[in-house]
Amino acid sequence: MATRTRDNQRSRVYKAERRTFDWGQTVPDELLQATVDDVLDRHSVRSRFGSRRINVERGRGGGAAWGKSRITLGVQARNEWVICHEIAHCLNPVSCTSHGPEFVGVYLFLVKTIIGAEAAARLRAALRETGAKWNNKAVPKPSTGTRVPPRQYESLAVAKARWNHAVVSLRDRLDAALRETTRESE
Ligand SMILES: [Zn+2]
Repeated sequence: MATRTRDNQRSRVYKAERRTFDWGQTVPDELLQATVDDVLDRHSVRSRFGSRRINVERGRGGGAAWGKSRITLGVQARNEWVICHEIAHCLNPVSCTSHGPEFVGVYLFLVKTIIGAEAAARLRAALRETGAKWNNKAVPKPSTGTRVPPRQYESLAVAKARWNHAVVSLRDRLDAALRETTRESE
């Protein structure tokens, strides 16, 4: 993506990521949108960034953010780390460098919120090693009171349950078909 300033710590961020997590698919295709919705729907995310919608599509290669409301993920990028990375691009203000300190601040905030404090600590340590900088200038203070927009989407738990149910019933149907075939051939 085009940026206003030179994206001069991009390779440091990528290097730190390679030291922190492995690429590969851990989120099934059917749960990609529910996972993105769940990230945006977390109270701590909504209270800082407001009610947002980001569409996720299957893509090729790595992950990419297109503007502020669309991301694409190649097969190897369909995991929570890359999802946090691409959402951070969408939440990072356009005036900030693509992989600049503000972006990394948002990314670390999302990793901590979604994957956990230990994961965020590992990423921070790797960023320190590779010399990437970060700050919290693009992470707003949470809005106080009750003005946090309400949950809008099917929860990830519900989507997962639906997905598991579909897998189990498919397995049952396959087992039944196999038993049928075996009986016929006996
Ligand atoms: Zn990026």
